Amino acid sequence: MLNGSLSDATPEAPQILTCFRFVCIILLYTRKWISFQITSREPSLTTEYVSPKGIGASKASVEAFAEKVAVNVGFKIGGNIEDLIERAGGKFVMGSSGQGDTDSGSIIARSTNDFTIFISRHTSLKRDRFTIAHELGHLLLHLGPIQKKDPSAVMRATRWVDKSDESQRRAEWEANWFAAAFLMPKAEFIEAYKAVGIQRVQFDFDVSEMAAQTRAKSLVF
Ligand SMILES: [Zn+2]
Repeated sequence: MLNGSLSDATPEAPQILTCFRFVCIILLYTRKWISFQITSREPSLTTEYVSPKGIGASKASVEAFAEKVAVNVGFKIGGNIEDLIERAGGKFVMGSSGQGDTDSGSIIARSTNDFTIFISRHTSLKRDRFTIAHELGHLLLHLGPIQKKDPSAVMRATRWVDKSDESQRRAEWEANWFAAAFLMPKAEFIEAYKAVGIQRVQFDFDVSEMAAQTRAKSLVF
């Protein structure tokens, strides 16, 4: 079990860290070389998935929530997010969740300790870290409201969204805000940026150049 609990972070946040599952972290780290050994589990063709809707929280409150979650679960800067997900009950699958997301990530979540994150075979490990944090954001921000209406509902979040659906687009923004703050907490990021510069920050926080640059811009540099 982890030291902290997501339920400590927010009263409405669902329980996430309750059990351990079989893990494939070594495969994840080395998948670019041994991907042929990984068995993809295609999603069910009969399950009706519900897409996440934005909760309408401000950017500041989503970021504050993400940082609080990171503290509560003991996630450190540059930490092992794959291990965190697996200890929370999540699984990884290389490939698509079935909705045009072959080059990006997605998540299918049945509960906060029963979910699968799909990772593209074509992306860098640093980008994958952001993707995983993004899907964690969907899990913690958007599954609860969905299952409040229907406890048996299964959420599927992909990078493909209905452009005409404002709420779906909002959900993507919220997941991105969560991911950025989870991986690059504001105070530590600013301090590191000023002390060592963007190149070193990318290395220390283990994020892509794009993620670091975007975070830097959002913090008004
Ligand atoms: Zn998303």
